[in-house]
Amino acid sequence: MSNTPIKTDVLIIGAGPVGLFQIFQLGLHEIKAHVVDSLPLIGGQCSALYPDKFIYDVPGIPKITGKDLIDQLELQIDPMKPSFHLKQTVQSLVSNDMGYEVTTREGLRFQTKCIVIAAGVGAFVHKELPLRELNNFRSGDLGSSHPPQVVCELPQNDSIAAKHIVVYGSNEAAVRTALNAALKSGTQSVCLIYRREQLDIGEELKAQFDQALRINAIQFMTGQITGLKTREAGQLLSHLLVTDTHGVINERACDLLVECLGLSPKLGPLLDWEIQMEKKTLKVDSKNFETNLPGIYAVGDINSYPGKRKLIVCGFHEATLAAYSIASYLRGGEPIPLEYTTASTRIHRILGL
Ligand SMILES: Cc1cc2nc3c(=O)[nH]c(=O)nc-3n(C[C@H](O)[C@H](O)[C@H](O)COP(=O)(O)OP(=O)(O)OC[C@H]3O[C@@H](n4cnc5c(N)ncnc54)[C@H](O)[C@@H]3O)c2cc1C
Repeated sequence: MSNTPIKTDVLIIGAGPVGLFQIFQLGLHEIKAHVVDSLPLIGGQCSALYPDKFIYDVPGIPKITGKDLIDQLELQIDPMKPSFHLKQTVQSLVSNDMGYEVTTREGLRFQTKCIVIAAGVGAFVHKELPLRELNNFRSGDLGSSHPPQVVCELPQNDSIAAKHIVVYGSNEAAVRTALNAALKSGTQSVCLIYRREQLDIGEELKAQFDQALRINAIQFMTGQITGLKTREAGQLLSHLLVTDTHGVINERACDLLVECLGLSPKLGPLLDWEIQMEKKTLKVDSKNFETNLPGIYAVGDINSYPGKRKLIVCGFHEATLAAYSIASYLRGGEPIPLEYTTASTRIHRILGL
């Protein structure tokens, strides 16, 4: 754990569309923010769940994909020079004389005067197969000589040489992972397993996959992983037991299992903070989107107030009003006048115009 906390006026939890627009709105008030997100990329649901789908209800933009909206927001916040901390999941919150200390699961610490929770539907984590015995092989806790044998991505290095690789899943990521593993030289075998025969992939990828099956570069098994066998006194995974639709159990050699089951959101530790909640969302005052804890705001899908709709445009409005309130809070309650971006020379200076 890092001993020196990162000091900031505002910490934003969540780099989804609303967290990103929050950076812009705070920047207009000359407030710099640090931003944490559990994902390795910015954009929240837009990037993780529907990058190629069109959104039709962003004001002034008739249609835009999830990915392009995030690219545009990234461009818009560039003058604000935000500090991103990705692959960091916020864990704990402690109040102190200077505001709040926030710690991430990965060990970063922040000392902040204000917090904006823009955590959407929760931190996105990789879905895991529900077989408890697999947990022993996930983290590599068994000793440094045994790296994890159940992972969510194919390792980048050469560590898969001479190994039996199994990929579980039916989506594009699963099939691409299996094909990539088959392309690496020296792998013993590559097998894609899924509970049903139908894969959720486009025609082009299906053709590549069928070709790899024809030349025996990949095998495909249908069934559920219902058990496992180990070697070296339980230290290493050696086989998976796969039960097919007729209840027949087949063994599959496995030194590395890659779970490609997509992402699911988990609210996790935010539920334990002393913020008033309503049906797993944070209650806020709709005049400024502050929670019951002074200096802690909640914007976007994570909040609730009378009439709340989980829409991007609503989150943008919330971020705008929260920024005015935060500016006033940080300046001892001073009233903050309204300024137009078209006319304010101060804002033009911030935007580098
Ligand atoms: C398929 C689909 C289509 C949609 N179409 C539309 C549409 O057409 N129009 C529309 O307005 N809306 C649409 N939405 C809804 C829209 O995507 C959400 O309203 C929007 O993403 C909310 O933004 P947000 O920033 O509040 O949260 P999110 O986008 O959920 O981002 C929250 C971020 O916070 C991070 N996070 C959470 N907890 C933690 C933690 N403890 N530590 C660190 N990071 C954390 C998450 O990893 C995530 O990146 C759609 C949603 C889906 C799923």
